Amino acid sequence: MDIGDSIYDRIGSERIINAGGTKTRFGGPRIREEAADAMREAAKYCANITDLQEVASKRLQAVTGAEAGHVTSGASAALTLATAACITRMDYGKMARLPNTEGIPNEVLIPRYMRNTYDHAFRDAGAKIVDIGHCDFSHGQETSNVELWEIEDAITENTAAIGFVPLPGNQITLERVTQVADQNDVPVIIDGAGTLPPTNNLTRYIEHGANLVAFSGGKGIRGPQGTGFLIGDGPLVEAAAVQHLDMDVHRTVWERSTRASHDQVQSGVPRHGIGRGFKVGKEDIIGFLTALDLFVDEDTGNLQDQWMWRLRAIKDLIEDIPTVDSAITPEQLINPSDAIYRSEILPTLQVFIEDPDLTAVEIVKSLNRGHPPIYVGARDVENNSFSINPFSLTDDEAVLVGQRIQELIN
Ligand SMILES: *Cc1c(COP(=O)(O)O)cnc(C)c1O
Repeated sequence: MDIGDSIYDRIGSERIINAGGTKTRFGGPRIREEAADAMREAAKYCANITDLQEVASKRLQAVTGAEAGHVTSGASAALTLATAACITRMDYGKMARLPNTEGIPNEVLIPRYMRNTYDHAFRDAGAKIVDIGHCDFSHGQETSNVELWEIEDAITENTAAIGFVPLPGNQITLERVTQVADQNDVPVIIDGAGTLPPTNNLTRYIEHGANLVAFSGGKGIRGPQGTGFLIGDGPLVEAAAVQHLDMDVHRTVWERSTRASHDQVQSGVPRHGIGRGFKVGKEDIIGFLTALDLFVDEDTGNLQDQWMWRLRAIKDLIEDIPTVDSAITPEQLINPSDAIYRSEILPTLQVFIEDPDLTAVEIVKSLNRGHPPIYVGARDVENNSFSINPFSLTDDEAVLVGQRIQELIN
């Protein structure tokens, strides 16, 4: 491997080995080559971003079954735009005031056990998060974390949306949530960022009645790292697009996007919206669309074989070390077409350190400090364990990871 000879090294940074999955912090996975090539070609010309977004919308419509779609600078940005759309709809005055939501319904209801660090994305639009339910199930009680009536009970005239994160172990189905939401005329926003593959999640949430879904373009799809997308109801996606697109245009020559079916057209041009700071370049949109097409046609079963090969290569290299134990989980991978969660189809190697003189923390830090640095999953590091996710590794890198762990422990 040509370590030290990368563009990152040449500018004084460093290429790394990402054994931690699709994490943004580690640069995400490698972009698909075809997507990078398409970006190169896109870079040779100029293009009208609104037009390009309309083409992207049609492509996303065809792939996901949603009424419309919009390319964003990540799932987090898509969540902020989705929230903004639910708060303002097509009211340009409200759009101009965000994140000030005084006097506007701005509450986003989220089951408490789904709260995570990305809820900042909802709040960025001026929303106030209202927790519902408890964490009883997670505490081992024989109850569920949230009851349907708790969602219904929390809906008031201040409710702008319901937030929902698809998680393994959810005790409330999305269909039931969207049913209650629909009866109360409240849109449901899904954070599906980390749920591709399985590919069928591209259509699942929409099928189950979600109004807006945010996905990453630079995680499982392997498009440009700084992309994501929003899909959902036409008028809501339109309201998101208006708050994202550049609005530096004279009113006499401005032609609105035509894709929405809403009838609330106002006179004049809206101001730059809350999403203007999350702009997406023409090359990013092209790169994303190219990657999306390849992702949709990809045989995830083939990928599973590659992932398994990489983990077994590492496991084989460290298996004979007496102070190390390791296990590939889940033991039984689900057929991708039957899967709901990524963790059901993407195996990881959990490494356990049983060495009186060496902790997992020390090993992880040494891996991080090596050349090239290797980053692994450190969630269980205080329990003397770390994990290897094969998604962003090449075969060569996997072997190198195994050898490095071997050297550090032996
Ligand atoms: C990665 C992730 C995000 C953010 O996605 P970006 O595309 O990096 O903005 C949001 N929510 C969850 C659950 C994620 O895993």
